[in-house]
Amino acid sequence: MNTENQGFSNLPARPPPSSSSPFASAPPPGVPPQSGGPEAVGFRPPVRPFTPSGPPMAPPVGVMRPGQQPPFVSQIPGQGIRPPPPSSNSFPSPAYGPPGGGSFQRFPTPPPPSGPPQTQTLAGHLSPPMSFRPQQPMAPVTMRPPPQSMTSGVSGGFASPPGPGFQQSMPPVNPSYPGVGGGPQPSYPGYPTNQGLQGPPKAFQPPSQGPPSTVSSYPTQPGGFAQQNLHPSYAPPTSNVQGLVEDFNSLSLSNIPGSLEPGLDHTSFPRPLDGDVEPSSFAEAYPMNCHSRYLRLTTSAIPNSQSLASRWHLPLGAVVCPLAEAPEGEEVPLIDFGACGIIRCRRCRTYVNPYVTFTDSGRKWRCNICSMLNDVPGEYFSHLDATGRRMDMDQRPELTKGSVEIIAPTEYMVRPPMPPIYFFLIDVSFSATKSGMLEVATQTIKSCLDNLPGYPRTQIGFITYDSTLHFYNMKSSLSQPQMMVVSDLDDIFVPLPDDLLVNLSESRNVVEAFLDSLPLMFQDNGNVESAFGPALKAAYMVMNQLGGKLLIFQNSLPSLGVGRLKLRGDDPRVYGTDKEYTLRVAEDTFYKQMAADCTKFQIGINVYAFSDKYTDIASLGTLAKYTGGQVYYYPGFQSSIHGEKLRHELTRDLTRETAWESVMRIRCGKGIRFSTYHGNFMLRSTDLIALPAVDCDKAYAMQLTLEETLLTTPTVYFQVALLYTASCGERRIRVHTAVAPVVTDLGEMYRQADTGSIVSVYSRLAIEKTLSSKLDDARNVIQQKIVKALREYRNLHAVQHRLGSRLIYPESLKLLSLYGLAICKSTPLQGGPADASLDERCAAGFTMMALPVKKLLKLLYPSLFRVDEWLLKPSADLGDLKDVIRRLPLAAESLDSRGLYIYDDGFRLVLWFGRMLSPDIAKNLLGADFAAELSRVTLEEQENGMSKKLMRLIKKVRENDPSYHPMCFLVRQGEQPREGFLLLRHLIEDQMGGSTSYVDWILQLHRQIQQNA
Ligand SMILES: [Zn+2]
Repeated sequence: MNTENQGFSNLPARPPPSSSSPFASAPPPGVPPQSGGPEAVGFRPPVRPFTPSGPPMAPPVGVMRPGQQPPFVSQIPGQGIRPPPPSSNSFPSPAYGPPGGGSFQRFPTPPPPSGPPQTQTLAGHLSPPMSFRPQQPMAPVTMRPPPQSMTSGVSGGFASPPGPGFQQSMPPVNPSYPGVGGGPQPSYPGYPTNQGLQGPPKAFQPPSQGPPSTVSSYPTQPGGFAQQNLHPSYAPPTSNVQGLVEDFNSLSLSNIPGSLEPGLDHTSFPRPLDGDVEPSSFAEAYPMNCHSRYLRLTTSAIPNSQSLASRWHLPLGAVVCPLAEAPEGEEVPLIDFGACGIIRCRRCRTYVNPYVTFTDSGRKWRCNICSMLNDVPGEYFSHLDATGRRMDMDQRPELTKGSVEIIAPTEYMVRPPMPPIYFFLIDVSFSATKSGMLEVATQTIKSCLDNLPGYPRTQIGFITYDSTLHFYNMKSSLSQPQMMVVSDLDDIFVPLPDDLLVNLSESRNVVEAFLDSLPLMFQDNGNVESAFGPALKAAYMVMNQLGGKLLIFQNSLPSLGVGRLKLRGDDPRVYGTDKEYTLRVAEDTFYKQMAADCTKFQIGINVYAFSDKYTDIASLGTLAKYTGGQVYYYPGFQSSIHGEKLRHELTRDLTRETAWESVMRIRCGKGIRFSTYHGNFMLRSTDLIALPAVDCDKAYAMQLTLEETLLTTPTVYFQVALLYTASCGERRIRVHTAVAPVVTDLGEMYRQADTGSIVSVYSRLAIEKTLSSKLDDARNVIQQKIVKALREYRNLHAVQHRLGSRLIYPESLKLLSLYGLAICKSTPLQGGPADASLDERCAAGFTMMALPVKKLLKLLYPSLFRVDEWLLKPSADLGDLKDVIRRLPLAAESLDSRGLYIYDDGFRLVLWFGRMLSPDIAKNLLGADFAAELSRVTLEEQENGMSKKLMRLIKKVRENDPSYHPMCFLVRQGEQPREGFLLLRHLIEDQMGGSTSYVDWILQLHRQIQQNA
């Protein structure tokens, strides 16, 4: 990083680089880090020198607690001195902070371009707990259950009395769900009254069939591009823009013409019934850009000035999913530059890409990001043809493809690439065994042993805990694992540190024996305590030499030792006060501190939480949030109900391709920079994202700031680079490059907007806002942002046109309003204390912060489709899912009493059986249980074609998106309160329990847009 601006006088000074950071521009080996010159290498992991033989262990001098005696080596045999962690100058704590509160403050307005971004530091970068004092000798014991101590530790649960809901400024129109339905037939007013005998409901028309109610055409606007670059390799699509007839869409908000009934024609409201449609116009114009699944800008037209940017009002930024699965039929080419080394700009460190240009008969190349003229190394030289193209272009994927993967040579390592490491921290207390969690988890881990990435280098280890910690010696020479119990929670030490984390292929038999015996050992455990914090510290001490993935299985509220947590969040009176947000953030700094320490040592944490009581996910999830991990939440886990879900999700977590010890940076052209980052990670410097473990299911959002008053270049380039260790042991760099035009016209920015990307940034900003403000405030911010953007858009057109009582919007943003409403109704932001338990809210927040665009949009506006008619069709073939799934508006009006519907949000499937559904269908699908209350019925395959057909459909829906395993719930129309809980409250277009309906939401927006218009 400290080389980026050298000799680049046009750029304003960037924030002072953390010169001691080993990243960004770490010099080649042998050069002091401070001297990072123009030749400095990209970024590196801040890891200590690798010592494969596992030398003795000693406490790190730099991390001792104040006043602590110099620790000395433990007396335990086999334990010695380990090398110290990196000294403070190789990993500066000031440049190392979570993307905390600072980004919230930026939410209302983009940060002023003048100041450098603030880097947050963790409050009190405390010493990691690495004390090693002599303990009473630990004799290895054979494995048997630890002593039981039945105490009533954790009690009480999370109560959520009703509270104020979503405030709305409109009286409810059309209350659609009065609660318990009684009597036959249309059980509540929200259903259309004609559904009994007269055919399917007619209220909704598929919006795709017709244009919105009013569409106006307008004469051509002056061309929006600042200037056109005519270089052959990247011509902006001038023809697409100039001469474009500008359309805007609108919704008429007066009564339906010719109708006596009051109300709006909401059938014409836009809905995402085709799912997420990725933007394609610029992909066509710039075929060498990376695919939008890797990088999606919020608008593909970058404003040329700060004043233009300030009128945009929507977020200006991008969503990046660096390891997204490649589109079908494509793969990311792997490139080895061999002897000539990786070709990068010597000034800004950009990787060679399709947009660089070669000059001087092929001897020089010009960097597309900073314009630097670089020498072409002799080994990389190629003659140019008459048009200036390299003759070898077709053999050089890095010069034709927007996404490539480069094999990194040793300069990109400060230690040999780490092996894949999976370490498990498993709660074995009373509830963990009773619920069946322990059994499912151990069976699943065992079943995955053959498929963990990285054979034969993969390493594995385990710690279990209740009121004490249990370590397991897995040395390959043993036939059975040895268990060691540590009961001193105040001064954690690790017995036999070298044999707790073992090579899986060498110790395979011991590991299997351990996994087989663990559930039996603890099956009668009555211990209800949880020494989670001390166990976490112990895991950290075992792992911090190499890093790896730490999977935590927690079944109760941590009750003993450091990091113990209190029952909180059961007081609804806190809602609506200034203290409300404190419930949603970690209470104890221990969690954030542990997360920071883990990230520093390349440990990524995934948290699996299972309790039926309050477990303070806000605190536990902090561990995943700042280590690039993920939270899996199974409230009230019972293996008979949730076992399959856990099995699938844990299997995916363990077997998906994972990038280890990685860092990510996104570069962009002169005059703009990325200023805020949003997602689950920690920032290592102002623009370097630390990701100890990352995979295809993780996405990150970021916002751009214009640094210069005027951008004079015709285009802006973006380049995402993820440096990581592949499971096979290769160090690699995945590079995605894209270009976007610079424009002078606000209308063009709106035309090129990408709602999916905007919604991804917004939902992350809104969730962050709930960590510093009331839910109400977070929702209001979303609403105000949309109002401002649409008002600005209206003003663009109001001069020339009579807009009357119409809400106008660009085609590209037709779904923005609906998704805004969906964000406000999503689990992290919805309603008040009665609408979601605190743990549920926090878990959903952590999950949504990491979701890729497509998955997020499906969660916000799930699919609802009818299946009974399809089931009755003779063809058994299940071709394309799209032929079966015809998505319906998410409103009770869409449900016909005679139908069978599936609701799918990617996390849950709900099968809704209409009250008048043919009994034959119900019998076929449910067998003997067809008339029972469906809460007691699970869907199983019956011996008939229809049932098999449905099960195939469900299987295919699940396979279509394997990142989570949706559980299948059954409910019959009128079964209350289940029906409301499972389905009706998720029909987000309806007004439900104090929430706003789609119609009211549009009216609210429209009214606010017209104020001060
Ligand atoms: Zn450059």
